Formats: sequence, structure tokens, C-alpha cells
Amino acid sequence: MPGRVVVVGGGVVGACCAYYLAKSGARVTVLDRGRFGMGCSHANCGYVCPSHVLPLAAPGAVWSTLKTLFKRNSPLKVRPATALANLGWFLGFARRCNERDMLAAGRAIQALLNSSRSLFDELIRQEGIDCEWEARGLLFVFQTPKAFEHYAHTDELLRGRFGMGARRFDGDAVSALEPALKSGLAGGYLYEGDAHLRPDRLMGELRRVLLSLGVEVREDCPATGFVRQDGKATAVRTPAGDVPGDQFVIATGAWTPLLNAELGCRVPIQPGKGYSITYPRPAVCPSYPLIFEEHRVAVTPFRTGYRLGSTMEFAGYDDRLNRDRLSILTEGARPYLRELPAGPAEEEWWGWRPMTYDGLPVIDFAPAAANVLIAAGHNMLGLSMATATGRLAAEMLGDGKPHIDAAPYALKRSGERPRVSGPRGV
Ligand SMILES: Cc1cc2nc3c(=O)[nH]c(=O)nc-3n(C[C@H](O)[C@H](O)[C@H](O)COP(=O)(O)OP(=O)(O)OC[C@H]3O[C@@H](n4cnc5c(N)ncnc54)[C@H](O)[C@@H]3O)c2cc1C
Repeated sequence: MPGRVVVVGGGVVGACCAYYLAKSGARVTVLDRGRFGMGCSHANCGYVCPSHVLPLAAPGAVWSTLKTLFKRNSPLKVRPATALANLGWFLGFARRCNERDMLAAGRAIQALLNSSRSLFDELIRQEGIDCEWEARGLLFVFQTPKAFEHYAHTDELLRGRFGMGARRFDGDAVSALEPALKSGLAGGYLYEGDAHLRPDRLMGELRRVLLSLGVEVREDCPATGFVRQDGKATAVRTPAGDVPGDQFVIATGAWTPLLNAELGCRVPIQPGKGYSITYPRPAVCPSYPLIFEEHRVAVTPFRTGYRLGSTMEFAGYDDRLNRDRLSILTEGARPYLRELPAGPAEEEWWGWRPMTYDGLPVIDFAPAAANVLIAAGHNMLGLSMATATGRLAAEMLGDGKPHIDAAPYALKRSGERPRVSGPRGV
């Protein structure tokens, strides 16, 4: 039995780990260096999207990434200094930009996505979670016929290899389906199995559920390391004192490499910065969540608002809000939407996605301590994979047989040996 478990990190992954652990009978404490739910899980786009099985590392991605080194305002941006300082990570990414590795990663991503999608249904129903959950699907929209036809290959691959086909809408059929879109667009693909929710409301509700299960949540409580005995951790060190436990989960998202020395490995995570802007609902508000692939902008309609999000910047742990990146979102939405958001935004936000080079999270025990489980590195899909990760973590720490094979999420990937190193980053 799990006994006392300390979960470090109060994002959606840590919260779901805490939930399934508490349900399995553990006494759980969640620690966060800041406030619960205010990391990358706060104002993301809110998609719970089993359609997103393909990792970023795909054929052709090296060239498109290289081009961003020389473009000022591209939705995907890599700062040359960041690439040089983290060459190993970027080379790992480049090595996986082939069809075989992409499909292998896709299968492992899909296992977490599919399980999470049904666990979300169960969690929301069983706990009465009010997070503006809607299972309407996700609509990919294309401006140009060239991009629309090009995407047909991806749709074919998703259908053939992953059983994840979409409904295709040609030309104005897409604006007939979604009247908030302009006419004259090339078309769209609707993934009907996807859903969306309002992430900040989800985090508020998860906190309520955790507290009702007796979970203790400690904020402003950064974990700095472990007290260790006989190859195991006995407590988490924090400036406010040691927090004892029998088992530990490290769900610290993009910050995880800062604990490398304590974990005894180099966790292959880079912060991938993204932005969102949240507005009040416009008069002509989309009813479907939308992705404008060519401009890499996502639009999420909530019952209580409306969000534009996306962009990806590899710039290390840069914590400044860059207005140029925000304007990519509004400008990118302009060619598609009949009504652009007007008036002041309710929130302008950025978050660090925990990016691994192969698109897979790490869900594995730390080399430095046999009772410390790392659950981090969920890339662009941490919300969509959170429930399955939480359940898997509870199974790995308890007596339960894992409901999905955890092997693809091991620290040691494709024959690589995890290296011990000091903290990097910040
Ligand atoms: C613009 C944008 C849009 C996105 N849209 C989607 C989407 O639609 N669907 C989807 O599935 N995903 C989406 N994502 C990705 C998703 O937000 C992340 O993958 C997910 O939030 C990661 O969750 P996490 O719990 O691992 O990390 P976080 O939410 O960042 O939580 C980590 C927590 O750990 C805490 N922490 C760190 N270090 C310590 C320490 N030493 N001690 C104590 N606490 C610590 C931090 O304070 C933080 O609260 C999006 C991301 C961005 C940026």
C-alpha cells in the first residue's frame, strides 16, 4: 500500500497523481513552490484531445525548426543560444524526426491519451466537477487549398495507423458547420472524439476534490531535495522544514531538470514557452474549439470566456511576457474569424510546456532513490494525459497492475543511458 505520499508539484499532473493516490488509500500531501494550479496548467487551451497522437519530432521538423532560427516572429521559435546550450536535447529531437520513431512515439502517446479521455469522463461525472467540460470535438481549419490537401496525408495516417479519422468539410461546408468562421476558407477536419474544458476551473475543482479526500496542499513550499537513507528518500527538503513520506512523486513539469542532481539523472526536459489571451465571449463566438494549423493558433470557446492560445518558443527559463508573441495569436486568428476579440483582455498569460525531445513524458523511478517516481515532461498534452498519468503513478506506487505499459515512458530511452548531472537551466 502507498502509505504517506508526497507529491511535489501542484499542476494538473501532480493533482491527478494526488487524486488517484488518495483514492487508493494513500495519505497525500501536495507541495508547490508557488500556488497550486498556477503553472502551465493554468491558462492553456483546455483541449483533451486524443487526436493529437503525433509528436513534434516528425519527418521535416528539423528543417522547419532550423528556419525559425532566422525568423523574428515565427509561431515556433528557437533562440540560437538556447539551441547551443542544450545541443544534446536538440540532437535527440533531430534524430527522432523520422517516420519510424514518430509512429513509435505516437503509439505510446495514444495509450495515455485514450485512457485519459475516458478517465476524464469518469472523474468529472463521479466528482461532480464543474469545469465547463464539452465533448464537441475539435475542428482543424485551413485557409489555403494547398495546406488543406497537404493535411489530407496526415489525416490518412491518423486514420490508417491510429484509427483516428476525422470528418472532412470542403470549402464553405466548414463555415456552414461553424458560422463564426469567415466564408472562403479551404476546409476543415473535425475530430469528434476530442473534448475541451476551462483549465483554471478544472484546477480549482481538483483542489476542492483533493481537500475533500483529506489531501493536504502546501503552497509557497519549494522542494529543494531529499533526505535519504539506504537508497530511499525519507522526506522532501523544503525551506519550511522536511516533509516526511514513504513514497514521492515529482510532478514539477518544466522545472524538473532543476532537481536533476537530487534525482540522479538528467531529465530530458526543455521549457517550451507558449502564450494565451483570454477575452470575454464575443457576440459571434465559435461553438467548436478551433485550430488554425497554418498560423498555429488555437481558439477555445468557454461558457464564461474565449481564449486564443499557442506559439512555442525555446528560450530557456525566460520568464518575461513578450507582447510580440501575443500579437501572433490575434494576427493569426484574423484570416479565419468573422469577429475578432475586441476590448481589453481578461488575462494575458504565458506558460512553460515541459518538452521532451521525443514527445513522451517520463514516468519512471529516479535513479537516486527507489521510492521517488518522476511524472513529468508531458509536452503540449499535459492536460490531455493527466488522468492516465495519475492513475498509472498510483498503480506503480501501489499494488495495482499498471493499466497501460509504462515501458515507453522510462528514463532510459531507445538504449540511452540516463546520465547523472547537476542542475541546469534557470
Ligand atoms: C499556450 C499553451 C496551450 C496549451 N494547451 C494545451 C491543451 O489544449 N491541452 C493539453 O493537453 N495541454 C496543453 N498545454 C500543455 C499543458 O499546459 C502542460 O503540458 C501541462 O500543464 C503540464 O502540467 P504539469 O502538471 O506537468 O506542469 P505545471 O502545470 O507547470 O505544474 C508544475 C508545478 O510544479 C511546481 N513546481 C516546480 N518546481 C517545484 C519545486 N521544486 N517544488 C515544489 N513545486 C514545484 C510549479 O510551481 C507548478 O505549479 C498547453 C500549454 C501552453 C503553454
